[in-house]
Amino acid sequence: MSTIKPLPELLINQIAAGEVVERPASALKEILENSVDAGAKKITVQLQQGGVKQIRVMDDGTGIAKEELLLALTRHSTSKISTLEDLHKITSLGFRGEALASIAAVSRLTLASRRRQSHAWQIQVDGKSVSKPEPSALTSGTALDINDLYFNIPARRKFLKSEATELAHCDEAFKRIALSQAGIEFVLQHNGKVRRHLRAASSAQRIQSVLGEEFGQTAAFVDERSADIYLHGMVALPAYARSSRDAQYFFVNNRFVSNKLISHALREAYRDVLHLDKHPAFVLFLDIDPESVDVNVHPTKTEVRFHESRALHQFIFHAINKALASPNRETKTEESMQPTRSFPAYPRTSHAQPGTVSQPASFYRTLFGMETNSYQPAPINTAPVTPVENSGQFAATEEKQDSHPLGFALGQLHGVYILAQNTRGLVVVDMHAAHERIMYEKLKQALDNHAVPMQPLLIPVTFHADGLEVAVVEENQTTLDQLGFEIAILSPTTLAVRAVPATLQHADIAQLTHDILREIREYGASQILTAKRNEILATMACHGAIRANRKLTIEEMNALLREMEITERANQCNHGRPTWFETSLADLDKLFMRGK
Ligand code: ADP
Ligand code: MG
Repeated sequence: MSTIKPLPELLINQIAAGEVVERPASALKEILENSVDAGAKKITVQLQQGGVKQIRVMDDGTGIAKEELLLALTRHSTSKISTLEDLHKITSLGFRGEALASIAAVSRLTLASRRRQSHAWQIQVDGKSVSKPEPSALTSGTALDINDLYFNIPARRKFLKSEATELAHCDEAFKRIALSQAGIEFVLQHNGKVRRHLRAASSAQRIQSVLGEEFGQTAAFVDERSADIYLHGMVALPAYARSSRDAQYFFVNNRFVSNKLISHALREAYRDVLHLDKHPAFVLFLDIDPESVDVNVHPTKTEVRFHESRALHQFIFHAINKALASPNRETKTEESMQPTRSFPAYPRTSHAQPGTVSQPASFYRTLFGMETNSYQPAPINTAPVTPVENSGQFAATEEKQDSHPLGFALGQLHGVYILAQNTRGLVVVDMHAAHERIMYEKLKQALDNHAVPMQPLLIPVTFHADGLEVAVVEENQTTLDQLGFEIAILSPTTLAVRAVPATLQHADIAQLTHDILREIREYGASQILTAKRNEILATMACHGAIRANRKLTIEEMNALLREMEITERANQCNHGRPTWFETSLADLDKLFMRGK
């Protein structure tokens, strides 16, 4: 038996580094936070080789005194809190006093700093050994040089990815801080080239310069206060949400956080307006009493807990709901790809597409003038078949129709609905919703059987991707493979899709891939095939399903009806809405006061 002994300080810090400094981007985040906490007005970041070779951050903040330089690199040393009360009302980004110590334990680091009215000094750490403070030429603030991350822990270094991937993660960390600190000027350089230069600006301007003008122009402002909460920022309207999936930024007291409660509130708020693309885009700031939120949940401080979580959920939900429903939204929103769910107002004959229906217009006019929600969709295969009493025209095919509860297609209405007749009367099917359900169930079954049939593409679909998307491809080959995708990285900004799940071969492949990568990134590889499996399947299904205004032949419509009959839960779409309803001849007769 070995004896119990305390771990050496260096090893303690190296263990902690595993949590705090996962990759260059996490080191960058910590250092940027320190510069913000030091009251900097300008922060310059210089990266070499995605930050793996070097991360250099310079600020013009308060600086560190010569005699405190070593302390700054010592574990559990901080200038930000000193009592338990302080911990309960954190207003700085840092407070745990472990970031610099952790980074110093796994890199070659130089810390130079100058306090106002004083000279500049620097110290160097090389894994174990720390130099004495030496005079430095620094003119103001603090400059931190981190070289060769994980040079002394090869096992860890192995996990670092390509330069482009690490750079993409660094860029994301930079964006998060830059978005939340609009008043600070930021510069980001990589391998000597300036990638971003953000001058001090208003929050709205900063959001535009980080996320692009398109976001700014199509987003709605949020500005909602309660007694002790203030939520402000911008939320993309559904039209934009389709074209940029990566913009999801939520800050609590200027700290970027990821929190289930918040995500849920946002998703709920977007639910009604975002049928097709289920990825809202937003930059939101929640200002809240620091005492009502716990930020000391995880070393990286991106997780938070709220004391009044229910009330907060409601507050966020209503604020976003309101912003999305604001009147000027309509003018900015492009036409949604999703068919309209409400029935056309009576009468709408002038918009009818000639030739798509074979019954007199008045028939449908009357139908859609009726209260529609009184029709409950009958469960497939279980609805009792009522005998046809008053119509000779069904007699001939009755036997055949009995085995087909959804009947046979008559035509297509407004490019959205399939009209069919069965033995009981009329069936109206929302073709996109129904097809989506079928796709979903098929994909689910295939994934359960570990056999999503892949369709190699004759000509691979190549498209421009951002660094994070490339990173997701690089890191999730197995997951993608299981989902039925083969995606190759052609260059740091180009992806090529070589194969997709067979059921999705007619989808917009680039858009589909963007969405899938987005979800894998959002949920993480470990969740995507487990807890979040249904989400990703729903996304895939939505892409595979026929769109509104696709002309279908009678044969195609009948094929869809037959598929519905053999698909579980086909009577509701993936969003929980009904996919079809039926109205009996008796009901129609009543409407026309027949036989009275
Ligand atoms: P924390 O931020 O949690 O206090 P760190 O290890 O990140 O812990 O930093 C330790 C201390 O070093 C900070 O509390 C702060 O006093 C000092 N420090 C770090 N970076 C800077 C900086 N850029 N400017 C001024 N002081 C800094
Ligand atoms: Mg810190």
